[in-house]
Amino acid sequence: MRSKANSIIESIEISKIRQIALKMNEYSDGINLTIGEPSQDVPALVKEEMANRVLHDKIGYTQTGGMPELKRAIVSFYNQYFGGDYKEENCLITVGSTEGLSTFIRSIVDEGDEVIMPTPTYPGYAPNIKLQKGIEVYLDTSKDDFKLTAKNLESAITPKTRAIILTYPNNPSGVCIDEDEMDKIADVIRRHDVFVLSDEIYASLAFEKYHSLAKYHDLIDKVVVINGFSKSHSMTGYRVGYMLASKYFIDNFIKVSQYTTTGIATISQYGGIKALEVYPTREEIVKENRERMEFFAKGLEKIGFRVIKPEGAFYLFADYRKLSNKKSIDFVNEVVENLHIGIVPGECFMVEGYVRFSVTKDIPELQKALDRMEKYFK
Ligand code: PLP
Repeated sequence: MRSKANSIIESIEISKIRQIALKMNEYSDGINLTIGEPSQDVPALVKEEMANRVLHDKIGYTQTGGMPELKRAIVSFYNQYFGGDYKEENCLITVGSTEGLSTFIRSIVDEGDEVIMPTPTYPGYAPNIKLQKGIEVYLDTSKDDFKLTAKNLESAITPKTRAIILTYPNNPSGVCIDEDEMDKIADVIRRHDVFVLSDEIYASLAFEKYHSLAKYHDLIDKVVVINGFSKSHSMTGYRVGYMLASKYFIDNFIKVSQYTTTGIATISQYGGIKALEVYPTREEIVKENRERMEFFAKGLEKIGFRVIKPEGAFYLFADYRKLSNKKSIDFVNEVVENLHIGIVPGECFMVEGYVRFSVTKDIPELQKALDRMEKYFK
């Protein structure tokens, strides 16, 4: 008898991160450091703009591919802050960056194509590659403390490589690529017949100047940038993302988007326009995140974790092997069950021996988590 859903869908699991977050609901004293949800609220004027639009406008569908005003705001933001050279025709508005990454993979990967992902890697990509019958290629970067080098990347490219997915600042490690290495990586992309998805969702949360792949203008036919407002403006619930690419790709991506979503919520797009108009940079948020992360990293090191030095986002990726020789999922279960602290196993990002802490609580709450761990692991 045929199963009901197709065999690929049946083989895909709901994200473990969500499963652990759900389990945390069982504990009244739980400290949930699992989900990548910024703790700061949506900026006030963004909320006000969306609320006013609901009250006073008749909200209908917007143009396929997104509101022209929002696209113009996004391309001028990317051109000004990240060195892009985009026009309105190079932008497509998506339902979160998640739609963007899915659209990229669905539009570019054919059966048997290899997609290289340096590890640790965000778990949202692989299920989309599986659905396309593509081949996931995980590139180990642990010897360089999870900093991708051009040399390592080039060693993984084969005649079957179709795409490379880069995520910097990285989720879960928070590392970025410095300018010199990025120049070399751009050179590797130039020399090979490959496409690149540059997931820049944490770009506005980089601690120092961010080096986007958008600045290599000659690579516009090969590099697709995705980004959005979920992390930069805490707008996770409004689902506003975007893709930046050549006109050729955008014209094709629009077809996927049209038949998947018919565009994103109009209200959310007004929010995006206001966010870029009033709050294009996020210095205050970055400062707060950085202080919390430095505080928490110090505490974790004291307990015996080795923490990868973050350069952005709000995650810490920590090696726990001095404390335990368990597999990451078993270590996480031990911490969840005994300490009621929700964390994510490295296996979710294809790296064993590490766990991810989402540092999205204030310092007193983080101190509480440190105290519990210190007492337990002593
Ligand atoms: N890419 C990365 C690396 C992420 O960490 C996330 C969310 O955690 C996303 C994409 C998806 O974000 P959204 O769809 O809310 O834009």
